[in-house]
Amino acid sequence: MDTIPNREPFIQPLHVDWYRPYVAALDMLRLDVVHPVVSGNKWYKLKHNLQHAIEERYKTVLTFGGAYSNHLVAAAAAAKQYGLRSIGIVRGTYAQDSITPTLLECVEYGMELQFVSREEYAMKEEGDYLLQLSQRFDTPYIIPEGGANEYGRIGCEEIASFIDNKYTHICLAVGTGTSFCGVANALPADTNVYGYAPMKGGDYLNEIIDIYLEADKRANKKIYADWHFGGFGKRTDELIGFMNEFYRMNEIPLDMVYTGKMMAGIQQQLQQQVFPADARILCIHTGGLQGNASVQQSLIY
Ligand SMILES: *Cc1c(COP(=O)(O)O)cnc(C)c1O
Repeated sequence: MDTIPNREPFIQPLHVDWYRPYVAALDMLRLDVVHPVVSGNKWYKLKHNLQHAIEERYKTVLTFGGAYSNHLVAAAAAAKQYGLRSIGIVRGTYAQDSITPTLLECVEYGMELQFVSREEYAMKEEGDYLLQLSQRFDTPYIIPEGGANEYGRIGCEEIASFIDNKYTHICLAVGTGTSFCGVANALPADTNVYGYAPMKGGDYLNEIIDIYLEADKRANKKIYADWHFGGFGKRTDELIGFMNEFYRMNEIPLDMVYTGKMMAGIQQQLQQQVFPADARILCIHTGGLQGNASVQQSLIY
């Protein structure tokens, strides 16, 4: 079942000029190399969900996402690989008329897309609505938006196995907080784990992670929400310029939705000396590079 990764994750140090003199080390865990589409954290969040679906003999998986959702396309690709039919419930009927590269890719992987109004989409966690979907789509195995469930968190605990204990700070981008909680739950309790939310008002995630972090793992965990660059999926010339500059120096491609914003935030935090001078930081590249399709012409990679 563990066949998706086509390359093992590895740790790549950033160019010293990027982080000196502020901290002792700054490395990046390259989960983006795992697969071109089922990349980064998405594979870990889906893995146990799909395993369970297969064990329980489901024929179909159903999940949710927006028109740029990395999760949706990852679910489509992974379901195809395992011979499962896939249904994607897409937020916003407008998306049907202005189909995105992400959604096109979902269709290429055989996902059947169902466009629903924002109002209907908002019911995605309600029991009655899920029952209705279940009847309509041949009793599918339902994965919540972003793979945000217990199986998703457990899968992300595996990410911690790539992290050795020389690091004092672990940084990763957050959407639902599923990866954050999985990683933090699997690391020693006092490890500093910082999350970077790419949407306006992302501070609420501090409350969400408190629910799913084990009681003794809540110290030294924090979500920052200052680097949203206008909101989820929004970008500025400054952000694109930063991503190009980062690539020039480190030869690591960042995505515009999550990891670009996180690294821009970390650059500012280094200058603001948020991290102690002896910090050894590991940033997690959670993938998402397929989401750069719409800005490809502005990027040097
Ligand atoms: C989906 C995604 C995230 C968010 O992961 P969560 O587990 O929902 O917090 C972070 N980075 C990238 C690149 C993603 O695609």
